[in-house]
Amino acid sequence: MKETYLGVHVSPLTYEGIITEIKNRMAAGQQSTIIAVNPEKVMTAQNNPEVKNLINGSTFQIPDGVGILLASKMKKGKIHSRVTGVDMMARLLKFAEDEQHPIYLYGAKKEVVEKAADNIKQQHPGIEIAGMTDGYEQDEEALINRINESGAEIIFVALGSPKQELWIRRNMDKLKNVLVFQGVGGSFDVFSG
Ligand code: UDP
Repeated sequence: MKETYLGVHVSPLTYEGIITEIKNRMAAGQQSTIIAVNPEKVMTAQNNPEVKNLINGSTFQIPDGVGILLASKMKKGKIHSRVTGVDMMARLLKFAEDEQHPIYLYGAKKEVVEKAADNIKQQHPGIEIAGMTDGYEQDEEALINRINESGAEIIFVALGSPKQELWIRRNMDKLKNVLVFQGVGGSFDVFSG
């Protein structure tokens, strides 16, 4: 059961719980979207119904930020630990390597995404990086074709919020073979460091 803060859903699952659910959903051919929730997004959602819909329409709303933990504690909720965007991505990379799901990296500056890919490959020698594109690509249709042709099953989108979530929502129907979409904000900058 989701918990709700000022009308915004938050998933009470741990990293392991999310990976397990994703594995089951992938086996059933179902697409999943992961969005990080923090107090700033909860506040933005108050006067921006589009942002609220983006969050509540996602499959997993991860509690990225201590504010959500405090709120859950006050309500005697079940969210006891943070699930950060960058650590969720790290878990998904391990999962992708273990289960042989090709990944795609989309977003950030060219040198950042390339360096992130190098570091990911070093940390996960068995991973298949099906492709990557920097976040300043203009031709969306060409990009969608490239992702489809790459065979990627998991995509990390690093365009900042809510741009990345809007991109995911706009394009997920055209990316039928991609089953996991995570909006990761500045995480490629972290992986490239
Ligand atoms: N970015 C991008 N294309 C854009 C705007 C931003 O690729 O049109 C990238 C930017 O280079 C950076 C990331 O998106 O790597 C934004 O990270 P930020 O920390 O601002 O996002 P947040 O986590 O705050 O949503």
